[in-house]
Amino acid sequence: MVTIKSKKEIELMKEACKVAAVTHKAIEENIKPGITTWELDQIAEQTMIKLGAIPAEKNYPSGYDDVPNFPASTCMSINDEVIHGIPSKYRKLKEGDILSVDLVALKDGFNGDMARTYAVGKISKDAQRLIEVTKKAFFEGIKYAKKGNRIGDVSHAIGEYVRSQGYSVVREFQGHGIGRQMHEDPGIPNYGKAGKGIRLEPGMTLAIEPMVIQGKQDILELEDGWTIVTEDGSLSAHYENTILITEKEPEILTIL
Ligand code: MG
Repeated sequence: MVTIKSKKEIELMKEACKVAAVTHKAIEENIKPGITTWELDQIAEQTMIKLGAIPAEKNYPSGYDDVPNFPASTCMSINDEVIHGIPSKYRKLKEGDILSVDLVALKDGFNGDMARTYAVGKISKDAQRLIEVTKKAFFEGIKYAKKGNRIGDVSHAIGEYVRSQGYSVVREFQGHGIGRQMHEDPGIPNYGKAGKGIRLEPGMTLAIEPMVIQGKQDILELEDGWTIVTEDGSLSAHYENTILITEKEPEILTIL
């Protein structure tokens, strides 16, 4: 079901999104070679709790009978890991790595969802370009995130921009409506046909999240039942904000 948020609900969405943004800032400030993804996850968890929020990814159901719920407060995906990487005490970041961090803050019943890919120390020009294109893909998409346009207009803009830059978008995962639930309708693929899908209306809150692969579009799931990696081993980047559809331009709620 697509939910249209009331004025009051929008205020609560903004608060949750603000926590997500502040938490990202805390992570970004602590990223350096030698730190483990578990340590970064602890920083994120403590930041969210201090701000009166709950890390909503923790204990998120896997969807498999034999795979435990998500064990951490953030998803931390390194290099060829696309999304849903599990923070680990045994994974130290190295100079030249790229780290995708995806987190959801749940505050007063509403969710704020945000992802970024960060450079660890000095990274290659190719990796830098991938991160920049992924970010730009989001902004190309939200040019169309306006009242009366359709979801397919946003999807198409993201997919075509990424293709024009020589990269691939992930097909199996997509953006989504967000509110009281982390994942609400509509689904928002990062590719598609313009003019298709539901019409956008003021009061919709959406998580738009290009997931971009340097090489081919194919992905694999690791045996942990969570981590998604690129099949060809090439790098992947992620850029996500929660936005609000308004009467005019969209508002980006996870950028302070
Ligand atoms: Mg997310």
